[in-house]
Amino acid sequence: MLTREPPQRLPRLISAQEIIPTTKRLLANIQNVRSTIAQTVELSSASFQNAIRPLIDIENSTQCELGMIAMLRYASPEDEARNASVLACQLMRESSAELVARRDLYRIFKKVHDRQEALDHESAKYLNQLLKDYTRCGHGLLDNDQIQLYLDKRNAIDNMRSRFNKSIRDENSGLWFCLEELDGVPQHELARFAKQIEPQEARLRFVRNRKVDSQVVLEYARNPATRKKMYVSSAYKLPENVGLLEEIAKRRHENACRLGYASHAAFRLETKVAKTPEFVEELFEKLEQALFPQAYQEQQVIWERKKCYLHDNNDLTDEDEDTLNPWDTAFYNRLAKEDMRVHQEKVSEYFPLRHTVLAMLEMFSSCLQLRFEPLSQDYVHSSIWHKDVEVWGVWDEREASIGEFVGHLYTDLLSRPNKHQGNQNVNIQRGYLKEDGTRVKPATVLMCSFQAQTATGCPLLKHDNLIILFHELGHGIHDLLSRTSYVRFHGWSGPADFAEAPSIMLENWCWIGDELKRMSCHYTRVDLQHAQQWKEDHQGEHLPPKEIPDELLHNLTRSRDFNRASWYMRQLAFARFDMALHNGASHQDGPAFDSTATYHDLMERYLLVKTPDPSSRGHPQADFGHLCAGYDAGYYSYLCAGVFAADMFQTNFATAPRDRLAWDRYRREILEPGSSRDELEMLESFLGHRPNPQRLLGGLRSTP
Ligand SMILES: [Zn+2]
Repeated sequence: MLTREPPQRLPRLISAQEIIPTTKRLLANIQNVRSTIAQTVELSSASFQNAIRPLIDIENSTQCELGMIAMLRYASPEDEARNASVLACQLMRESSAELVARRDLYRIFKKVHDRQEALDHESAKYLNQLLKDYTRCGHGLLDNDQIQLYLDKRNAIDNMRSRFNKSIRDENSGLWFCLEELDGVPQHELARFAKQIEPQEARLRFVRNRKVDSQVVLEYARNPATRKKMYVSSAYKLPENVGLLEEIAKRRHENACRLGYASHAAFRLETKVAKTPEFVEELFEKLEQALFPQAYQEQQVIWERKKCYLHDNNDLTDEDEDTLNPWDTAFYNRLAKEDMRVHQEKVSEYFPLRHTVLAMLEMFSSCLQLRFEPLSQDYVHSSIWHKDVEVWGVWDEREASIGEFVGHLYTDLLSRPNKHQGNQNVNIQRGYLKEDGTRVKPATVLMCSFQAQTATGCPLLKHDNLIILFHELGHGIHDLLSRTSYVRFHGWSGPADFAEAPSIMLENWCWIGDELKRMSCHYTRVDLQHAQQWKEDHQGEHLPPKEIPDELLHNLTRSRDFNRASWYMRQLAFARFDMALHNGASHQDGPAFDSTATYHDLMERYLLVKTPDPSSRGHPQADFGHLCAGYDAGYYSYLCAGVFAADMFQTNFATAPRDRLAWDRYRREILEPGSSRDELEMLESFLGHRPNPQRLLGGLRSTP
């Protein structure tokens, strides 16, 4: 039932047939504004008000419809709408490219920039970023032909990137194993692998080199020779990608040099929180010092587990009894983790999906003094794209602003055919200030693909899904509470090395025993039908308790520390490889960059496992899709945001996770500004110190 009608209408749902005409109309309006600026603004009188403000206004006023259109490619049940949305996004990208290609506009914006008008910080940031968009294409540095050459080279690199990732997507090679070799692999996993058609070969199974299949063999196959075969086969896949990756890195370096940067990393990092390769290098060094001792200890545990296992299972022989090989780690990690007796299936029974979402909203209500009121299906039905979608009106409960409308939160949680398979937060409406001083409030979607069908008949969340839900809802809360003047800087739209931090910080709440207990509710307690079914299946037994039992909880929270330093070391190895590829001077002079040798050197150093002999090494970097999917010189972002998150948590929340004053300060100083200010300054002022990589390790310890 509708409790309160929000003062702002829900964003209009745009039909499949309307998507392209609407996009074209909006982009034409944007185009008109640009042309009017070019035609009417004299260089001598160019100002923020007459040259920049019109761009901002049209961006603010068109964003919501374009946001709705872009969202539909993930979630619309209609093929026509999804296809039109993909095409519309292409038109939007072309429109953005057109803006920065215009030399006439660059001259005007440069003039405004040179005037150095006194501007508020958000306007100043807008102008600086706009200018950067131009100089990063060569304006002001290169002549027309050189700019064209730069853009042509960039397009060629983009085509090579597409080839690299297409090879990864299309890769289907693998190995045939006989069932004896696959001893240890669970039946339900074996059932997924293809069988040989000939009856006499029916004991053979085909395991693809793709991680989703090969990882199962590496984790479960008892025979070390099987695991080695699998590892080596996977390591040698995609040979064509090795040279391609090296060529892409070389060309990226050349293009960065055309613009006067020392490396591709210097070019990429300039617009991030990190700003320079030196910042990233310093982060790596500090992390290495902080993580290495614990990672070494963790590895000793795994190594002991191997010795113990071989001793107990003397039917097995391992040629490398005294070393840990790359094909050993997944197998012995699993055994060591099983020793901790974390019963994931049992845990999931206490986290039914819908109840857990409501419990999370309750937590945010309590900490941030918000109120989430569900809007009735009658009210929302013409504005939603599928019947599974629910919408909440969000209201402020803080004394100074009680009753103020905050925004709309949509949830679209279940997997369905043709819906994006993944979990994410998608913005529809960003917030901004209108010229009359009133504020447009945001609308944001928590979009997940959790399975509706489970053995219990009730969608349940395993603990790692609980973390994902909290993480994505964290982006959603950031999006709801942001209060910027311009849509450009709203919410989590800033660089990833900062924007991921609030969500990563929230993951901590999934490891706090008290919070987990408060959120938990056995699925038989949320629906009488489930209770009835459970009783039929468990004749004569009492229903499980409502809250998650202490022992289950204790084993779960204790497992957080398991291999955490090793996990971060692995991320560090990948991030170092990314930087070696994109920040090396070796692309210009001297011998060609050997990505395979560099990759193996780094893995040996950080993963603390033996590098295989040359005939078994392969070239696993050929499968490193991030490097060609927008994370070039950007893989460090996960670690960097992780450090920011750990420091914010430990400095402000670790001892009192629901402290309202801390949450209120966090809301005002980190969430509300979006990316309208310098992110590092914002963090330093919130923390009272420079973010400290040592905190990452501290964050590994179980919280109270
Ligand atoms: Zn995220």
